Amino acid sequence: MRYFNTIAALACLTGIPALVAAQGAIPVLGQATSTETIQIAKKADAKKKAPSKAKAAKQPPPTPAKQLFGAAKSPAAMAARSIGFYAKGCLAGAKALPIDGPAWQAMRLSRNRNWGHPELIALVEKLAVEAKAHDGWPGLLVGDISQPRGGPMLTGHASHQVGLDADVWLTPMPNRRLSEKEREELSATSMLAADRVSVNPDVWTDAHVRLLKRVASYKQVERVLVHPAIKKAICTSAAAKQPDHAWLSKIRPIWGHYYHFHIRIACPKGSANCQAQPSVGPEDGCGAELDRWLALIKNPPKPAPGPPAPEKAPITLAQLPPDCGSVLASGQPPPAKETPAKQAAPAAKKATVTK
Ligand SMILES: [Zn+2]
Repeated sequence: MRYFNTIAALACLTGIPALVAAQGAIPVLGQATSTETIQIAKKADAKKKAPSKAKAAKQPPPTPAKQLFGAAKSPAAMAARSIGFYAKGCLAGAKALPIDGPAWQAMRLSRNRNWGHPELIALVEKLAVEAKAHDGWPGLLVGDISQPRGGPMLTGHASHQVGLDADVWLTPMPNRRLSEKEREELSATSMLAADRVSVNPDVWTDAHVRLLKRVASYKQVERVLVHPAIKKAICTSAAAKQPDHAWLSKIRPIWGHYYHFHIRIACPKGSANCQAQPSVGPEDGCGAELDRWLALIKNPPKPAPGPPAPEKAPITLAQLPPDCGSVLASGQPPPAKETPAKQAAPAAKKATVTK
């Protein structure tokens, strides 16, 4: 509801005409010339204007979009559509991944981020079932997907905004149903060895390779993001040496991602305003590119000397694709001032919120 507050009109600032105000000062000053009168008038005018400037400067900045989307507790009941880019957009008609399935459990339920485009939800479910049936993987622990209406989040994740990104833990699912508390508190297992450029053989298994190969083999999947040490483990696996290894190019190294991997699927059909990312090239990414990454992990870039760079201003609703305003407004209760009759009118709701 905070977004209603962002529609604030500028206060109309009126002042006494400058010369009249200055003339009031002339008897006190006694012998003011006409030039002085004008100067006094200007000063008085400036004095009158000063508070207005201060007031304008105090105008609160627009509410960050992450607060608006973070507050939306339910999906927009519209046709399913990913709108914008993975890191700057929103989601209409989201579907929830059921918190329990035949081969998965959703984690961190309090975050309410088990929402995605129906195509992504179907893919995660398929991956869980197939990996359990064929890869010796006991089931998926599914982390963050998207918020009910996508959009920027209050914590973590630059992407995950359009319902096409999902995080899946690299920790195998236990053979029992986890309680809600466990799903909040259970820690994922790091796959890294102490050197951080290779995986820990105590926790890394061939089943991980099979799982990652499976997800990267799905046509809709464009990228699977993992830590460089995991990419190295994949590149050196027997699976990578088989003739058909086109899937390998989709597994991309990135910082972090040693507790979980990140699935990104392509813009689905029917999402005209979904902005695609260039697809990965044909190279398997196991040569020079991986070497560069591993060197970076060994010697991470040092922060530039001097004060830290100022924090970027958060994305506002106005910076997201225009349709995201309608996604946010859809089905939301109107502001408290509305009468019950008006509340029932969808047109009134829309008009109030799409500013
Ligand atoms: Zn992610």
